Amino acid sequence: MAPSSRARLSIDLDALAHNYRVIAQEANGAEVAPVVKADGYGLGAGPIARRLRAEGAKTFFVARLEEGEALRRDLAEAAADILVLDGFTGGSGPRLSASRLTPVLNSTAQVSAARAFADTQPGPVACALQVDTGMNRQGLAGIEVRHLVATDQLAGLQIGLVMSHLGSGADPGHPRNPAQLSAFAEVRGLFPDARASLAASAGAFLGPDYRFDMVRPGISLFGGGPQETPDPRLKAVACLEAPILDIRSVAAGELIGYGVTIRAEATTRVALLGVGYADGVIRATRKGGSAWAAGARRRLYIVDMDLTVIDLGTAEARPGDMVELLGPHVLLDDQARAAGSIAHECLVRLSSRAQRVYLG
Ligand SMILES: *Cc1c(COP(=O)(O)O)cnc(C)c1O
Repeated sequence: MAPSSRARLSIDLDALAHNYRVIAQEANGAEVAPVVKADGYGLGAGPIARRLRAEGAKTFFVARLEEGEALRRDLAEAAADILVLDGFTGGSGPRLSASRLTPVLNSTAQVSAARAFADTQPGPVACALQVDTGMNRQGLAGIEVRHLVATDQLAGLQIGLVMSHLGSGADPGHPRNPAQLSAFAEVRGLFPDARASLAASAGAFLGPDYRFDMVRPGISLFGGGPQETPDPRLKAVACLEAPILDIRSVAAGELIGYGVTIRAEATTRVALLGVGYADGVIRATRKGGSAWAAGARRRLYIVDMDLTVIDLGTAEARPGDMVELLGPHVLLDDQARAAGSIAHECLVRLSSRAQRVYLG
């Protein structure tokens, strides 16, 4: 068989299980409820969730209704709660209940829609409630929640979870963290029978005050550090590698690739790789990002749609050798930073063109 010019994306489920255990240890008794939205951060919600279920996870979060329906099919008979962050959107009641999905109610309009649906049901409808405690993105205001409770407008809904989301969790010293914490503690006090959850990956590492009953990690399960920098306790789950297609010499002063921005500083050898931004390598990574080839870190020169060029210097390498663009040597947070982005975006961009392999 001729060697493939295709990139390979390997997803290490043992590394995923390791990260789950690290977070569970940090959570110290709080439930660890994985967030597997956007197809498990691009890595495959089904295989990711099945492995985490086997490791003991019982509650999962997705963003969209359709993601929840697909995850319910993926988990088949396994007992699991699946919460949909988009909540209760127009007419979604029958589909939510058919797949036993719990909506996270984010506004008074969603509360009303859920109540109208509950009126058609034999028993109370299980819901979670999201409160905005200072991120100003999603969720009911504290004052709205107090009003709903005071006027008994949650009747017919069984609020099993009250949650909120931190806007500055990756920055442990940020004053917004304690402000959101105290706003959340106040609102959750209105629901003595519900469980409470404030922390995503970042918050899960902010210490005991932030854990409540449940933490909701996404990126740290996949190896992204809670403070957006590499964390040695976590392992890389996604490894993107591409084959060397060709090696050539470039004389000092020559321009490389499109445009006039990149010039070889000295005469060198470059390797052409079968991977590009169509495979999910963010184009901006060429500014300061790196690849790992022949046992060392290499400078990226260009990232085009299908091709990437790296500096090889005098390294021993041959066409067909695999080069790492993301993985245990080229860390997610470092590569994301070079691209001016965050680990989350770097992962979800990994497209389906690369050949996927699950390990473990
Ligand atoms: C995406 C998301 C998470 C997970 O965030 P990470 O930073 O990936 O850990 C948790 N909670 C909510 C509400 C989210 O939208």
